[in-house]
Amino acid sequence: MRPLVATVDLAALRHNYQLAKQCAPGRKAFAVVKANAYGHGAAAAVECLRDLADGFAVASLEEAEQVRLVDASARLLLLEGCFEPSEYVAAAELGLDVAVQGQAQLDALLAAVIERPLNLWLKLDSGMHRLGFSVDALRRAHARLQSAPQVAELNLMSHFACADERGHPLNEAQLDEFAGLLDLAFDHRSFANSAAVLTMPAAHMDWLRPGIMLYGATPFAELSAEALGLKPVMTLTASIIAIREVPAGDSVGYGAGWVARRPSRIATVSCGYADGYPRTVPPGTCVAIRGQRLPLAGRVSMDMLAVDITDLPQAVLGDAVELWGNEIPIDELAQACGTIGYELLTKVTQRVPRRYI
Ligand code: PLP
Repeated sequence: MRPLVATVDLAALRHNYQLAKQCAPGRKAFAVVKANAYGHGAAAAVECLRDLADGFAVASLEEAEQVRLVDASARLLLLEGCFEPSEYVAAAELGLDVAVQGQAQLDALLAAVIERPLNLWLKLDSGMHRLGFSVDALRRAHARLQSAPQVAELNLMSHFACADERGHPLNEAQLDEFAGLLDLAFDHRSFANSAAVLTMPAAHMDWLRPGIMLYGATPFAELSAEALGLKPVMTLTASIIAIREVPAGDSVGYGAGWVARRPSRIATVSCGYADGYPRTVPPGTCVAIRGQRLPLAGRVSMDMLAVDITDLPQAVLGDAVELWGNEIPIDELAQACGTIGYELLTKVTQRVPRRYI
């Protein structure tokens, strides 16, 4: 087998879920497992958390079906909601909680003939302007749903635009907008993504919705996962598959942009951008071999990358190379590439086997 694996530490996943719950004692938490559990494998994540988690959240009916294969009865929230009456029928069959985030979804719900009523989450657009009702439209939706046969629980949710920026004025403004609906009766309220779970107690409400923190990455630019007490869940590990001596003045890789300033030892490593490693890494980006950080040499190729191992003479063919995980925090790599841990994790491709420990 090609020596490249994404090792998923399930104990770390459980630790991180428990940390989310500890941030908000007494509250419940949907573990967000959309996008294949942020690239970690939804089936394994759900299996791992099923005795701990109060519920799960996904983006689509297809993702909900995958979760149901593992857990037939957990509370399972469909974050983007249903778009046709037939989808509400499917959602009811799957026993989902369903977000309702706009007029068209509300109309489709009221036109649906479903076997059992649904737990609905009316979504307020409190300021992000992506999905959700305005305050007035939400009041009207609430009134329309009072006696609708499709409704079991009627809940309220919203989503932050800038929770990852502590002190951003929009955070307070969004909470104020939400508070404007306090007079309406709802069974439960939910607002907090990971960043709000970690730093905004006022947003905790009844149900948390942590995603990225479960996977041991930070939502914040300036607060590391380690400082937050999170444990990395995925470690991406490849191997040295070739080693060569490169004379000073010779170049390495596509474009011949990296030129050896000294006689160099270059390792070729079995991971490339087709595996999800970012091609946009800046010069000086490091991997870890035998516990030592070593810089990339030249451009990342589709299936391989090169590392300058001149300063690690004991490195040999077959040595493990950590691309990210314990020694190279994923957030460090993401920041260097101008992106976020979410993107790197969800872009690990199909051909990378996930190994669960
Ligand atoms: N809630 C909603 C509606 C989301 O869209 C997301 C993710 O994008 C989350 C919760 C989880 O967010 P995070 O991964 O930042 O915790």
